Amino acid sequence: MQEKTNSDLSKKPSFMSDQSYSAALRFLERLQKIDRELACYESGEKTFTLPVFFDEEIGKWTITTEFCTIGGCDMGILEFENETAAKLEAMYLSEKNVHPKSERACYPCYQEYMRDAY
Ligand SMILES: [Zn+2]
Repeated sequence: MQEKTNSDLSKKPSFMSDQSYSAALRFLERLQKIDRELACYESGEKTFTLPVFFDEEIGKWTITTEFCTIGGCDMGILEFENETAAKLEAMYLSEKNVHPKSERACYPCYQEYMRDAY
């Protein structure tokens, strides 16, 4: 006997109207599309345009959005409660072709640069 799960929508459940059944199918389709997209990133077929990693120091998943122009230090960090949330956001930003900015120096690097220059 096949076990029936809540996500099995191959047949319309008796409690659902035709309209809510087709809405549920569309919703499920969107979720499956997101899953397939994410799988492309997990397999390396696609790569995130921004670095996504677990930051041991703060104990959170992060996305780096900005680097210091002098030392390459992380300047802009988005923090997430879990890996999936971070990767979904990274996927969203990657699809929009968002890359980390690198337009300014962080304060310590800037200070060092000024000290060496003069
Ligand atoms: Zn720096």
